[in-house]
Amino acid sequence: MEREKIANIGLWVKRLVSLAALVSLMIVAYSLNRQPMPAPQPGETVSTPITRPTEETIQATEQITQPTEETTQPTEQIAQPVEPTTIPTELPPESTEATVEQDGRNLVVIDAGHQTKGNSQKEPVGPGASTMKAKVAGGTRGVATKLPEYKLNLMVAMKLQAVLESRGYQVVMVRTENDVDISNAERAQVANELKADAFIRIHANGSENSSANGILTICQTKKNPYNKELHDKSYLLSQRVLEQTAAATGAKKLYVWETDTMSGINWCQVPTTIVEMGFMTNEEEDRKMATDEYQQKLAVGIANGIDRYFD
Ligand SMILES: [Zn+2]
Repeated sequence: MEREKIANIGLWVKRLVSLAALVSLMIVAYSLNRQPMPAPQPGETVSTPITRPTEETIQATEQITQPTEETTQPTEQIAQPVEPTTIPTELPPESTEATVEQDGRNLVVIDAGHQTKGNSQKEPVGPGASTMKAKVAGGTRGVATKLPEYKLNLMVAMKLQAVLESRGYQVVMVRTENDVDISNAERAQVANELKADAFIRIHANGSENSSANGILTICQTKKNPYNKELHDKSYLLSQRVLEQTAAATGAKKLYVWETDTMSGINWCQVPTTIVEMGFMTNEEEDRKMATDEYQQKLAVGIANGIDRYFD
């Protein structure tokens, strides 16, 4: 019995061992079979599907990001004129004027003419007009310096802002960057919405006649169909700015050009002037205007003219 028992036990152990071996073989076979399937290898299979979509979403995000960046630019551009509006909009529009008067400060809106790329889309030349004109023309450029007008305009506009602020004016810039897309009508509306005391538009001139040089200013005529009631103030502003800018720079004083062909003037509901600071098609004037020193003189001259207008 003892021996039989022992033998029996030995047999059972052998059976158990071989059973265990069989089971483990089956497990191995099963898992080998299952390898390509996702479930038993959660680590691998889960990671694969997640990685792929992530790459895809990164790509997709990149694709989305690019257009967004592109659209951001126009948005920023549109935000540009909106930004200044935000300052006085905190107060009800009517109290804006009161606040400025209370301060004893005059509000000047400055528009640096043109932008990196002109916009040839059309807009009415004035409120309700059937005549259409490009939203923003390309502007001229320096015959010698190759400096584009939109850059020069902004450089002088920023200097003018600094001079006016140092003299206690409240100043709002239509644009502070070159790469914007703001139509001439929209620029005027910035000044209108803020009920600016003066809207100063900074430009430089161009002519086929390379000897043409000097400063001129522009406003509407007495018969302007959109804002003739503003002629007298705009003309006075134009005169003062013309005299003072010519005096400060020593440039030739041309004249005040009264015309109703300028959208940016026709859309205006506040006194306005365009300053044509000089001719970029004249080599000597082009080179002068490109210098910091002369730009500062222009800014001081325009500011002196604005001072005289408000006196
Ligand atoms: Zn211009």
